[in-house]
Amino acid sequence: MSDPTVGVAERQVDLAVVGAGPAGLSAAVVAAENGLTVALVDASPQAGGQYWRHPDERHLDSYARPESTGHHHWPHFRDLRTRLSRAVDAGRVLHLAGRQVWQVLRPEGAPFALRMTPTAGRDASAPADRVVHADRLVIATGAYDRQLPVPGWTLPGVMAAGGVQALYKANQVVAGRRAVVAGTGPFLLSVAAGLADAGVEVVAVCEANALSRWAATPLRATQEPGKLLEGVGYARTFLRDRIPYRTRTIVTEVRGRGRAESVVTARVDGAGRVRPGTERELEADLVAFGWGFTPQLELAVNLGLDTRIDVDESLVVRVDDAQRTSLPGVYAAGETTGIGGAVQSCAEGELAALTAVADAAATAPAERSRRLARRIRRGRRFAIGMHRASPVPRAWSDWVRPDTIVCRCEEVDAAAIAETVTGLDADDPRDVRVTARPGMGWCQGRVCGFAVSKLTAEHSGCAWTREQLEPLQKRPIGVPLRLSDVAELDIEGRITP
Ligand SMILES: Cc1cc2nc3c(=O)[nH]c(=O)nc-3n(C[C@H](O)[C@H](O)[C@H](O)COP(=O)(O)OP(=O)(O)OC[C@H]3O[C@@H](n4cnc5c(N)ncnc54)[C@H](O)[C@@H]3O)c2cc1C
Repeated sequence: MSDPTVGVAERQVDLAVVGAGPAGLSAAVVAAENGLTVALVDASPQAGGQYWRHPDERHLDSYARPESTGHHHWPHFRDLRTRLSRAVDAGRVLHLAGRQVWQVLRPEGAPFALRMTPTAGRDASAPADRVVHADRLVIATGAYDRQLPVPGWTLPGVMAAGGVQALYKANQVVAGRRAVVAGTGPFLLSVAAGLADAGVEVVAVCEANALSRWAATPLRATQEPGKLLEGVGYARTFLRDRIPYRTRTIVTEVRGRGRAESVVTARVDGAGRVRPGTERELEADLVAFGWGFTPQLELAVNLGLDTRIDVDESLVVRVDDAQRTSLPGVYAAGETTGIGGAVQSCAEGELAALTAVADAAATAPAERSRRLARRIRRGRRFAIGMHRASPVPRAWSDWVRPDTIVCRCEEVDAAAIAETVTGLDADDPRDVRVTARPGMGWCQGRVCGFAVSKLTAEHSGCAWTREQLEPLQKRPIGVPLRLSDVAELDIEGRITP
């Protein structure tokens, strides 16, 4: 293992961790406490990721409520945060906040090189400081909200459920007064309960699936007593605030002049087909849609790591039972390996770190690693049950009209995608992307990628495989970067001094 002082000064470390959410934060802290020098790179200005997104720590006085408002497992985060700052003070962790990794290179026989760019604003650091070299790498880049288009979803006042939650946790701000929360999965409960606690009137929670789907996997649900307790807490809030929870119900349309004013809801059958005559209009100025999450795999896919399709139809990184990926020296943890929640992400991050430590010292995993692996397998069983109980309904594309915008950056509607597949014989999302341009705008398919891939598979009759999803995750430049970052590269792509 390298000398920590030399490593930090030269931006050469034993382990680089990308992402400081539950997984990456746990990985960085545990690796440092077990003797590795670590660089923890995260796009956010402060650690915590999506789950522990919290108010600006420098201005806590200006928030009405404590920084823990709306959070679960906050003491665990406080503990990790304290251990991180101890490791930073001791020179064992270099915490590069507000920086995002746009490329990871692995020159022949040399350490990994991670190129970074500031998240926003000017960066006064020298070009050489925007590269970290590391012998090993943990990818813990998390996920983003999975969205499905529906007529009216581009109106102001319509948000992703995770976005609503992030706004509340980070800023203690809510984006409306009367809300409808719709989609599928237990995350809807968390968002609705958070909104109700913040004083918003939640006029309906529309869950597309039947609760009886959970009954198919009761043993899996009891694997995680913590989650069941969390559910009881939400049930209490729902009863207290009389929040209507409607199963087998979807939002078929958002209506409004200039912004969301109402939604049309409808009952659906088991496949998601609307039952005619069940439509109802509800007034709402905030609509939160949540269809699960999509792992953020740009760096993983560009490194060529093996991927697979998970139970919830997401593309995820394939790992062994010690969090090793298919590329020696690279580990993955958290939502990148499958959506399973924050507790699971912490366990995976810790195990990835311990495996990196064992691999660096060429030793066998110890008892703690074996216990974590068992814990992760149990969490995984729960996640499988959760995904089976909350699938994206098979017939969701019936809710989309030909003129419904699917890609909002490039304003590509559903008819253009159908026409590209059936009229122009484009039979995979890559062809559709370059022909009709969905996923070619600012977000590069992060918002519409899942829907575009699904519609392409449906119109072409192709099976749902990795090939449907990888093209919209493949971005040689992982995040938007500044022209000056490119200008600093020489003809061979090295950073010029
Ligand atoms: C918007 C949103 C809100 C959510 N809110 C909740 C919630 O309230 N409750 C709940 O149970 N679950 C929530 N989730 C699900 C949640 O993501 C997880 O359960 C948990 O946070 C996963 O932990 P993680 O460490 O895998 O990833 P994350 O917490 O997502 O952390 C990943 C980190 O990686 C960073 N990152 C990504 N790419 C790069 C890059 N190229 N360079 C540098 N940094 C990078 C991100 O900035 C982020 O901080 C939310 C998800 C989203 C997308």
